[in-house]
Amino acid sequence: MSSLLITGGRVIDPANSYDAVADVFLRDGKIVAVGNDAAKSAEANDERLDARGKIVCPGLIDLHVHLREPGQSAKETIATGTKAAARGGFTTIVCMPNTSPSIDNPAAVALVKEKAEREGVINVFVAGAISKGLAGEELAPIGSLKQAGVVAITDDGHCIQNNELMRRALEYARMFDLPVMDHCQDYALVTDGVMHEGYWSAALGLRGWPAAGEDMIVARNILLAELTGTRIHCQHLSSARSVELLRAAKKRGVPISGEACPHHFVLTDAAVAGSEEFWREDGKKVFGYDSDTAKPVWPKYDTNFKMNPPLRSATDREAVLEGLCDGTIEILCSDHAPHCDYEKEVEFDYAPFGITGFETELPLSLMQLYHTQRLSLPDLIAKFTVAPARLLKLDKGTLGVGQDADVTVFDADAEWTYDRMASASKSRNSPFGGWRMKGRVAATVVAGKIVHREI
Ligand SMILES: [Zn+2]
Repeated sequence: MSSLLITGGRVIDPANSYDAVADVFLRDGKIVAVGNDAAKSAEANDERLDARGKIVCPGLIDLHVHLREPGQSAKETIATGTKAAARGGFTTIVCMPNTSPSIDNPAAVALVKEKAEREGVINVFVAGAISKGLAGEELAPIGSLKQAGVVAITDDGHCIQNNELMRRALEYARMFDLPVMDHCQDYALVTDGVMHEGYWSAALGLRGWPAAGEDMIVARNILLAELTGTRIHCQHLSSARSVELLRAAKKRGVPISGEACPHHFVLTDAAVAGSEEFWREDGKKVFGYDSDTAKPVWPKYDTNFKMNPPLRSATDREAVLEGLCDGTIEILCSDHAPHCDYEKEVEFDYAPFGITGFETELPLSLMQLYHTQRLSLPDLIAKFTVAPARLLKLDKGTLGVGQDADVTVFDADAEWTYDRMASASKSRNSPFGGWRMKGRVAATVVAGKIVHREI
């Protein structure tokens, strides 16, 4: 069977509070040894990976991604999506159920799992729907979904508005010990908003998506989590108030958690007004862009800056960063949401929400959290490994001996420029094309096999 010795890297395993220069030896899909004498377990002809000067950590987990299968394979397939994820350093991802048809029944779960087994290059776990067809009217068969192997339920892309239905979902989820994740959006408040409601929506003449539309559901979720004792994980938090609500609720011991995506802590709504407006003020807070060096350029109303929830104000961006730093927000993820060019190349109002994210997620997080010296590397890595593994009760996210041999090797300091046209994803809808990045994946190892390497 296959063996791999990863030598000389700085091994960071937050789950075991391990941080030292060491070797990691993998055999038959498992971690066999970590430490200075790990090489002793290896034989002369075992494959080696020189990780000197690099970080070696548990394979990164992204618990919020859209792979678009079944039904939307023009945007992405499990094959292309998992390749892009591997390039971004991810060994495990969780795909959302808002496909066509949606993943709201055991047959759909089986279909995705089978396809992922056959065509995926990394581990794919499936999230099932909370409600049938994600319509928010009738509960999906939560027990059968669990039996079929989903690791969580969510109506992501949609949000159950009926609080009683949400309560029942939580009660069922508790019976089946299934985490509930929620895309927080109050439909009555948000209506058909396309960007953050504020100065820029008024200036640009675009309909506003007020932060209160997110805060309202985060508050609802806190109350329902308290009432039912069931944990709710709030997806892609973007507003200052929702971070504040989460912080206070966690202090009270409410079983609630949250995640954040890089676009919400790099960009602001000024970006929708074009690059010039963004760099004028808000862009100065982006790591590496405070000087007079060349900056990426994009026009007004660029639909690659349209996502749900939307880019918010500089105050909101700062609150999300603070929430990540003080532990209020435990998890980092991409909300990788590929769309075809022809769908995005329309007026801002008509473009679908969402951007790709796998390949820029780690460097942007390193830039805004680690290179700004706000978060240590172990704390940052924890948000991509042990924290999502714990939430979803996955036996992943650590380099403990005997664990699955999923490992990510990256250079925290390597500088490079992102070329979205060269993406491994089937889609190109990233707002970060032409951006200088600091931090680059060197190798991605799944079950002891190198699935992506740059060294
Ligand atoms: Zn969502």
